[in-house]
Amino acid sequence: MVEITHGAKMDAAIQRAKEARLVVRVEGFREYSVENRQTGVRYAVTFSVAAGRKFGACSCAAGERGMLCKHIAAAAARHLVAAAEIAAAQTAAPTPPTAREMDTAPVFKPTLPPAPKFRGVEL
Ligand SMILES: [Zn+2]
Repeated sequence: MVEITHGAKMDAAIQRAKEARLVVRVEGFREYSVENRQTGVRYAVTFSVAAGRKFGACSCAAGERGMLCKHIAAAAARHLVAAAEIAAAQTAAPTPPTAREMDTAPVFKPTLPPAPKFRGVEL
């Protein structure tokens, strides 16, 4: 587990992530798998938040030693996108229809069933 902070260590990890051919997959909320395309090895990266501080963990050797590895950096970049998507989805209000949509929207016109008849006479 390593704290995610902005700084030289993160910049270096991001640089290593860019140089490596990593593929990040979203596995769940704060759960990612990062595959190294060169080696075919896949690592599990998870994020957690405690007391407003963000932490990341990776199953690779460096991650197990509590180092900020390139897998965490790669997953963190994807995580920021996911977090932004969730925030946008939560704050997005339904947009009211435009005048054009109002004009072309099908109007619901209820149709009444035929009036009941009794011996041919409409009731
Ligand atoms: Zn790692």
